Amino acid sequence: MHEGLKIDSEVHANAPFWKAVREQFPVLHQEVNGRPLAYLDNAASSQMPQPVIDRLVQYQSHEHANIHRGVHHLSQLATDHFEEARRAVARFIGAAEDRECIFTCGATDAINLVMHGYGRKFVEEGDEILVTELEHHSNIVPWQMLCEEKGAELRVVPITDDGRIEADAFADALTDRTKLVGLIHVSNALGTINDVRGLVALAHERGVPVLVDGSQAVPHVGVDVGAIDADFYAFSSHKMCGPTGVGVLYGKAEHLEAMQPYRGGGSMILNVTFEETTYDVIPHKFEAGTPPILGVIGLGAAIAFLEEIGMENIAIREHELLAEATERIEAIDGVRILGPKQDKAAVLSLDFEGVHPHDVGTILDQHGVAIRAGHHCTQPLMERLGVPATARASLAFYNDENDVDALIEAIGGVREIFG
Ligand code: PMP
Repeated sequence: MHEGLKIDSEVHANAPFWKAVREQFPVLHQEVNGRPLAYLDNAASSQMPQPVIDRLVQYQSHEHANIHRGVHHLSQLATDHFEEARRAVARFIGAAEDRECIFTCGATDAINLVMHGYGRKFVEEGDEILVTELEHHSNIVPWQMLCEEKGAELRVVPITDDGRIEADAFADALTDRTKLVGLIHVSNALGTINDVRGLVALAHERGVPVLVDGSQAVPHVGVDVGAIDADFYAFSSHKMCGPTGVGVLYGKAEHLEAMQPYRGGGSMILNVTFEETTYDVIPHKFEAGTPPILGVIGLGAAIAFLEEIGMENIAIREHELLAEATERIEAIDGVRILGPKQDKAAVLSLDFEGVHPHDVGTILDQHGVAIRAGHHCTQPLMERLGVPATARASLAFYNDENDVDALIEAIGGVREIFG
């Protein structure tokens, strides 16, 4: 793909390499409101490179058929490609076995799968589910629903003022009644990178399984679910250069096998009579109906793209851009960056003195700078931090110094209007 431009972590400041990477993203090469687009809303959804687009077109143009059902050529081809993508996912996240990777509609769907399949089977009245103040709504609301249904209690690990989870606070919140922990790996709102390995170990000391929400970690920091020892790990394709409508639930085989299916229907059964149904083995038990085949194949192509660049290189590049943007924003009066100063991914959650984040977002858009203004599906976190919302710029490896310049200039535009 980028012949002659291979890099390793020793030579990460390789400008031609990153230029060539950026050129692979057609959507970035356009003007918005008369300015070159600076796309800084990557935490909401990432952009798709040409090789992934090409793979989707190839599949849809020449290869489409339903999977696991036909004896005909196209169906077998589609099945092979679908299962190849599963192998790619397992390799990419360090799963011990392919069958531990379930395709879902996204991270939210993956967490709901655990809530229905594990929670509804094993959680009882008086039990506790533990989450943290950093969680996205998708790792809060399903547990609230479960607690309501079962008469269980949702408990919350408090965070520090700069948005970190301290090990002691986490350990203190675990009790003999904790049945499951929901823990975010990288915060979408603040960028905090949690020590999930250490926190999972603390939960395991008490025999409590942990579901890690890795939506913002998989695309940015490189993940090894085996090293983390996560019981469950959820993420979405559309935040890692793949298509929307697809996600993954990784689960340890022993848990997945013990769980009840989430959805019933075709493709998840071994035998059906009106009296009784026997379910297929994992992963099929959790993949009822026709899955998002196109999306899964696109996710496989996205993983190949990310692997070719290298997750270590991606993390270094994003960190460089984050460091530059942070230094320049810190020099501007009246703007505060929320969240930790260290151990953070490339998320800049900004609080402007006297200016509502929605006004910030609108002014930045006039400069061609796409950011997100709002609560980022973390209302309890916003309340904890004492802000209604923030203006969030989130970077990806295909951003560049011009995007950072555009952000800084646009922030200057906000200050000009609001003083
Ligand atoms: N968790 C986190 C940390 C996220 O950032 C998101 C997406 N904003 C989700 C979960 C939900 O992902 P999806 O909407 O793709 O299901």
